[in-house]
This record gives sequence, C-alpha cells and structure tokens, in this order.
Amino acid sequence: MTGEHLDAIGVGVGPFNLSLAALLAPVEGVAAQFFDRRPGFDWHPGLLLPDARLQTSFLKDLVTAADPRSPYSFLSYLVEKRRFYEFLNADFQAITRAEFADYLAWAAARVPALNFGTEVREIDFDGEAFEVRTDRGRRLADNLVVATGQQRYRPAWAEPFCGARCFHGAELLQRNPDAAGATLAIIGGGQTGAEVFLAFARGLFGRVRSITWISQRPNFEPLDETHFTNEYFTPGYQRVFLDLPPERRREIVEAQRLASDGISPDTLAEVYQLLYRERHLSQAGARYRLCPDREAVAMEGVGAAMKVTLRNQLTGEAEACQADLVLLCTGYRSELPEILAPIARRLRRDDEGRPELDACYRALWDGPAGKRIYLQNFGRHSHGIADPQLSLMAWRSAVIANDLAGRQVYDIAPCAPPITWRSGDAPRRESRFEAA
Ligand SMILES: Cc1cc2nc3c(=O)[nH]c(=O)nc-3n(C[C@H](O)[C@H](O)[C@H](O)COP(=O)(O)OP(=O)(O)OC[C@H]3O[C@@H](n4cnc5c(N)ncnc54)[C@H](O)[C@@H]3O)c2cc1C
Repeated sequence: MTGEHLDAIGVGVGPFNLSLAALLAPVEGVAAQFFDRRPGFDWHPGLLLPDARLQTSFLKDLVTAADPRSPYSFLSYLVEKRRFYEFLNADFQAITRAEFADYLAWAAARVPALNFGTEVREIDFDGEAFEVRTDRGRRLADNLVVATGQQRYRPAWAEPFCGARCFHGAELLQRNPDAAGATLAIIGGGQTGAEVFLAFARGLFGRVRSITWISQRPNFEPLDETHFTNEYFTPGYQRVFLDLPPERRREIVEAQRLASDGISPDTLAEVYQLLYRERHLSQAGARYRLCPDREAVAMEGVGAAMKVTLRNQLTGEAEACQADLVLLCTGYRSELPEILAPIARRLRRDDEGRPELDACYRALWDGPAGKRIYLQNFGRHSHGIADPQLSLMAWRSAVIANDLAGRQVYDIAPCAPPITWRSGDAPRRESRFEAA
C-alpha cells in the first residue's frame, strides 16, 4: 500500500478518530486517511452487556456539538432508521450503549477515508514527513492524529493468574465464561464492576454460587451528574483548566474523580434493589458480599481456586476471599503506544513522563512546527477529566479539524460559562482563526 502524500493520518478508529473523520469529511483541502486494525468498527464489544447504558447524553455524539447539520449525527441515524418519533416517545433517561454502539457502527459505514483491517506497526519521521508503516505497506503524511485508546490495567499480583479463570472485565463477552455454580470475585468498584456484578447476579453466565464484590473506594460511590458538576465537561471550563499550573491540575483531577468514574445512580439503585430481593424475598438467601474499602494486594492459587488477600482500609485488618473465577474491573491506563517508539524520545514530557499537549491537542515535540502530532485521549492530566469521555469529542475534533485546515471551518468559540471560575474572565471569543 502506497499512495498520495497525505495531509494527515489517523491511527485508530474508535469514537474519537471516527468523530474527526466525520468532521473532516466535508472539508476541502485536507487529505486524510484513518487506519484501524479491527476488521470493522466495534465499540468495546467485550462489555456490551444487555441494558448497559451510556453515561452521556446522546446529543454528545460524533458531530452535533460542532456541526448539528452533519449527516453523521445521532438524530440523522434515528431518522434514517425510522425510529425518531418512537425514540422521543420512549423518553429514555439514558440510552443503551448497544444503541449508541450501533449508531457509531452506522456512521463508520458512511464516513469516508476509514481503512479497517489495517494495523499500524511503526511510525517514524524522516525529516520531511511521518512514515506510517502498516501491515499493508507504508504511507507518508505531514500530520498524525493518534487515537489508539487506553490500555486495560491488570494489577501485577493478578498477572500470573490471567487466563480463562481470571481476566479483565473488557474480555467478558468474548470469553463468555460458564459460571454456573462458581464462586466469583469482582475486583473494582466503578461502573464496569457494577455492570459485571449485575450481569452475573442476573444469571447471564449461569447461576453463580456466590459473588464477592471488592472496591478500593470507601463505598460504592455515585457518578455526580448534577448540573454544576457537568460544567467540567464544557469547552469553557476546559480553557480555564488548561491555564492552571500542573500541580493544581493534578489535585483537581483527583478531586473530580466521581464526576467521571463513579457508578451511575440508576445502576446503584438496580444493585441495591437486587440485594434487597435476594436478602429478603428469595428462598436462596444471600449469596452476595459487597466489600468496599478493601485493597486487593495479593493472589495465590488454592487448588483449582484463587485466594485474594485484602487489606481492609476501614479496620486495618488483613482479610481474604476465595474464588474460582476472578473478574478484574480495574480500569484502564493511558500510555503512548509502542508504535511511536522511533519518535517517542522527541516528545516533550511532564515530570511523570506524560506527553505535554497544547490547547489544540498537539504534542509538543522537537520536530518542525508544521509537522504535528495530535493526541486524542492522552490528556486527562493536561485537559481535565473530560478528555477520555465522549462529552467533548465533537468539539475536540473540531479544534483539530480547524487546526489541520488552517482556518475556521467550525466555530469552536466556547460560550462564557455560567460560573465565574476566575475573576477577570469576560465572555470572549477563542478561535485562532476568527476574522479580524
Ligand atoms: C465499557 C466502556 C464504556 C464507556 N462508556 C462511556 C460513556 O458512556 N460515556 C463516555 O463519555 N465515555 C465512555 N467511555 C469512555 C470512552 O468514551 C471510550 O473509552 C472511547 O471508546 C474512547 O475512544 P478512543 O477512540 O480513544 O479509543 P477506543 O475506543 O479504544 O479505540 C481505539 C481504536 O484504536 C485501534 N488501534 C489501536 N492500536 C492500533 C494500531 N496500532 N493500528 C491500528 N489500530 C489501532 C483499536 O483497534 C481501536 O479500535 C467508556 C469506556 C468503556 C471502556
């Protein structure tokens, strides 16, 4: 595979680069191609559990925040599928992830310049252009947009046991375990832990003997979806956050954890009500142990089962739980992909080794200014808790599309926030391309 020298190559086609490709589609003068190793678009298929719901408004789709007239919006999808009125009448508080995943796949079948079944193996810079080596040949481009997603995190103590009986939650539906009669331990008290708990408790993988659900957090804590908290997921707040010194940003990301990583209140209600029914209305009796405030610190084999050692953070005591199936709902980490190894040393890093990004999501590097490396979903530390979420997806894509085009294709000027985050902030236009 060779071809024209491109203006931009997108690596990875998850929602974030799909959004960029959708917004670039009508833009004249930017030749871009996007590559993904998967055979077709598939959004976190291992966790597409029945009834799992989106934690974000469906209006925060691929394009609407930047271009509500785009043919790739969620509303266009509803209209084309002839379900617009029914969708409105159903009046969902939150739509299912399955429907959003179907929308994304629908868009991926229509957006141009997407190349599935193409793995990017290595990226180098030859002094003039980025050379992107794939399993189908090489392509040259002036700019890169890397959106390869986050890596599944498995604690080191679990690694020796990883396989059919101990695996990351993201593999659940592919592994489809037969859990009938099993004692199960779920490690991790976020949304994935809750969804996995409900799936097993409802018998999706057979009737389990017992479930122990372990969380490091002090309790099973809710996602804060209230009005003012949602301001953190706006372009206006993000601009304020960007100007803060790194130490303040670090503290704030930690303090705002429950605005992005908590459990949806609806899911918590389902878990609590299920527990009530099992404890008081079922003949089988309680089969569930919910154990927050425990840090899992070690694992050992006990016959065919596994023993997880826990530190009870409330009492300081050591505890243990035995299980013959362990689900690691331990989240994800953001790490630069290995494919960037030839140029990785040229990227400027912060004191924790993370890439430094500017307001347009360009990684700071020592290459020529006109050759840019945009990073999507690598800037939680610099751009705030919205960075790995869908909320600012379309707006961020518009920022990158404008920057690639070198002109204002999309109006990205944020509206002045309803909260006065700092004195002296007046409503202002932020576009770099605004006419004088
Ligand atoms: C189960 C789950 C549910 C979520 N639900 C929500 C939600 O409700 N609301 C919300 O705001 N956020 C949610 N998120 C967070 C976020 O929106 C998603 O993780 C989103 O998928 C991130 O998009 P992405 O494009 O960065 O990465 P990904 O979706 O991970 O896509 C990355 C793509 O890059 C490809 N790739 C990687 N390396 C290469 C390579 N070398 N060559 C070619 N292709 C490559 C992969 O095949 C993959 O398709 C959820 C996350 C998870 C895990």
